[in-house]
Amino acid sequence: MTTEIITIGDELLLGQVVDTNSAWLGQILFKNNISVDYKTAIKDQESAIINQLKTSLERSELIIITGGLGPTKDDITKKTLAQFFNMSWRIDQNVLKQLEQFFEKRGRQLLEINKIQAELPDQCETLENQWGTAPGMWFNIKNKIIISLPGVPYEMKNIFEHVALPKILKHFSTPILVQKTILTFNVPESLLAQQIEAIENNLPKNIGLAYLPNLNCVRLRLTGESVNKTDVAVQIDDIIKQIIRVLGKNVISEKDTTLVEIIYDLLKNNKKTLSLAESCTGGLISHQLTALPGSSSFFVGSVVSYSNSVKHHQLGVENTLFETVGAVSEQVVEQMAKGVRERLKTDYSIAVSGIAGPSGGSKEKPVGTVVIGVSSIHTTRVKKFHLIGDRENVIGRSSNHALNMLRELILEEN
Ligand code: ATP
Repeated sequence: MTTEIITIGDELLLGQVVDTNSAWLGQILFKNNISVDYKTAIKDQESAIINQLKTSLERSELIIITGGLGPTKDDITKKTLAQFFNMSWRIDQNVLKQLEQFFEKRGRQLLEINKIQAELPDQCETLENQWGTAPGMWFNIKNKIIISLPGVPYEMKNIFEHVALPKILKHFSTPILVQKTILTFNVPESLLAQQIEAIENNLPKNIGLAYLPNLNCVRLRLTGESVNKTDVAVQIDDIIKQIIRVLGKNVISEKDTTLVEIIYDLLKNNKKTLSLAESCTGGLISHQLTALPGSSSFFVGSVVSYSNSVKHHQLGVENTLFETVGAVSEQVVEQMAKGVRERLKTDYSIAVSGIAGPSGGSKEKPVGTVVIGVSSIHTTRVKKFHLIGDRENVIGRSSNHALNMLRELILEEN
C-alpha cells in the first residue's frame, strides 16, 4: 500500500510554522504498521491542491491531508475537494448539533460563519471532531482513501487517533512490521557501519537497518516486515545479538532510549541522588533530567556556576586555580564535582566546564575543549574532551559525555 501525507498552508512553506503534523502522522502510522511513502507541503491555493491531488491519486492508496478546513474564505481545502471530486453539498445535522453544543458550552454565540463547518461534500463520510469545530472528511474514491483533517495539531491528532485510524485499520489489511532499536555511544556512524558491514551485507531481504545519529549517540534501528510477528521478532533479536557481539561495550542500551532516560533509570533503581555543577552546559543537563516526570526522586539540585565567583563561593573551588590552571581544567572541575556533591549532600554529582565558542578559545585550549567530572563518595573522575561542532553541538555533546561518564560510574559501583 502506498501512503502519503499532504500538508496545506503557506506558513509551512515560508517556514513560519514547522510542520509537526506530518512528523506525528508518520510516527503513529508506522506504529500501526503503515509506512509513509511521500509527504508534501503545498500552498493554500486551489491549483496547488488540485495538482497535488492528481499526482497523489496516481501513486497512492491512502492520502492524508491536513490544513485549510476553517470557516474563513482563505480555507479552501473543503471547497477544492468537493469541486475536484465533483460532489455537491449537504448539511450534516450531527455536526450542526455538535457545533451548537460546542458554542453553548463555551458561552459563545454560534455565528452563521461557524455553521459553514456543517456543510460537507455530499459523498464524504464525516470524521467527528469533538476537539474543535472543523470536522474531518473521509472520501472513498474507487477504493482510494483520501482523509482531510484540520491543521490545528491538537484537533488533527485527536481526530486521527480516535476516529480516522480505526477506520483505516479496518479498511486496509496491513503487513506486520516489527521494529527494535539499540543505542550506541561514542562510535562515529561511518566507523559503526564499517564494524558491522558483514552483518549488514547479510541482512535478510525483509529486514532493514537504519543509522540515526545524534551528538555522539547513534541509534541503530532494525525494521522487519512479515506475515508472522514472532518470526520476524526472532530474526531481529538474532541480528541484534550479532551486532552487540561486534560492538561490545559501545552498545549502551538494547532499548529505544536516551542517555538521560538511562541515567534516570539507574539513579531511580539504585535509589541514589544526583547534583550538578554546570558551567558551559548552562543547566542543560539539569533541564533534560527534570523534563522527565518523577525526577524529583533523585535530582536534588544544580548550581549553574558560570562565573569563577560562583565556582568559588558556591562550590568551594580555590581562587588561585583560576589564575594558575584556568577554569577549564581538570583541577577546577574536580573541585566543582566534589564541592557540589558535598554541599548538596548527594550520592553522585556531575561537573562540566568548557569553551563552547565561537569565541574564548586559545592555542592551548581551543573552542570545544571541555572538562567533565563525575564524583561519588568513593571516587572522582575527570576527563578532558576536544569536541567538534558549533556552540550548540559542543554543549549537546558535553551533556552526553557527562551523562555517559556518570552511567559508567554508577554501573561500576552498583
Ligand atoms: P482552523 O479553522 O481552526 O484554522 P484549519 O484546518 O483551517 O483549522 P489551518 O488554518 O491550516 O487549519 O491551521 C490552523 C493552525 O494550525 C495554524 O496555527 C497553523 O499554523 C497550524 N498548522 C497547520 N498545519 C500545520 C502543520 N502541518 N504542522 C503544525 N502546525 C500546523
